[in-house]
Amino acid sequence: MKLHEFPRYPLTFGPSPVHRLARLTEHLGGAEVWAKREDVSSGLAYGGNKVRKLEYIVPDVLASGADTLVSIGGVQSNHTRQVAAVAAHLGLKARLVQEKWVPWDDPVNDRVGNILLSRMMGADVRLDPSGFDIGIRRSWEEALHDVEESGGTPYPIPAGASEHRLGGLGFANWAFEVAEQEKALGVHFDTIVVCTVTGSTHAGMVAGFAALEELTGVGRRVLGIDASATLEKTRDQVERIARHTAELIELGRDLRDDELQLLEGWAGDLYGIPVESTMEAMRLGAQLEAMITDPVYEGKSLAGLIDLVKGGEIPRGSTVLYAHLGGQQALNAYHSLWP
Ligand SMILES: *Cc1c(COP(=O)(O)O)cnc(C)c1O
Repeated sequence: MKLHEFPRYPLTFGPSPVHRLARLTEHLGGAEVWAKREDVSSGLAYGGNKVRKLEYIVPDVLASGADTLVSIGGVQSNHTRQVAAVAAHLGLKARLVQEKWVPWDDPVNDRVGNILLSRMMGADVRLDPSGFDIGIRRSWEEALHDVEESGGTPYPIPAGASEHRLGGLGFANWAFEVAEQEKALGVHFDTIVVCTVTGSTHAGMVAGFAALEELTGVGRRVLGIDASATLEKTRDQVERIARHTAELIELGRDLRDDELQLLEGWAGDLYGIPVESTMEAMRLGAQLEAMITDPVYEGKSLAGLIDLVKGGEIPRGSTVLYAHLGGQQALNAYHSLWP
């Protein structure tokens, strides 16, 4: 099937906004920097990138007859909050496994931000002491089993909706949305910078931009910035999902190595723990643009963009698009970063 033939259940306002970051561009003194904002693209509990992925998964949920969405993430997972939001919107239940992915010992970590919103939206939230892993988890399989035992019909959504068959389609379509917006704005983004952890955001973009290149002959660089701090695992997952998504939308060729670029250097040692470059990027985004980023994801990818522009790896004369994927809801659990 071609991408536009896959059913899409609208959960966003439409195309996410694209705008110039004039003061950040001036500050960095190199490439032109723009942002595309998944953080303000939906009315469902502040949205974010998982809502866009779920637009392609919801038709399958509805066809399955399930009554409970079952998913998993860290305690401050943006993904599980977006699953809770979509469940509320559709009149379904949500059962969420929240694992201890981040050794962040703030006393309100499991009370505020994302997990608070999920509770408000009526999700059945269960804390689990297991550590970080982007793969398929036993606790999640047990949750699926539990829902069945109690007479429900579960619909499984893996971490980040990434290992789902349709998980890459949302951001494959993002590529075509960018192309439309470029026409309207009269710009061309030769480089895209995106945060990567469970992989299907980055992987979907890779498949989508490859399909676009087949149509237009114009290629561009999609640079994933690793924020998982488990680089090899995330690289494998991105490549696998990108190839699977490319096949799903009938790209008709294999992906080239230069189309699969996951860069390391900004994740620090641990998922969810900011380092100095994260703090500096969050500060710059906030103080130059009032563009708020979080210490888990977007602060790290923004740090990558800043260094790549400053160091000239993204050269002067380039126009780079920063994919802002959301995540500000976790900030309250990180209040101690600004004492
Ligand atoms: C989930 C998430 C990411 C990472 O996306 P993946 O598809 O898991 O790689 C980045 N930023 C935010 C805010 C997220 O919630």
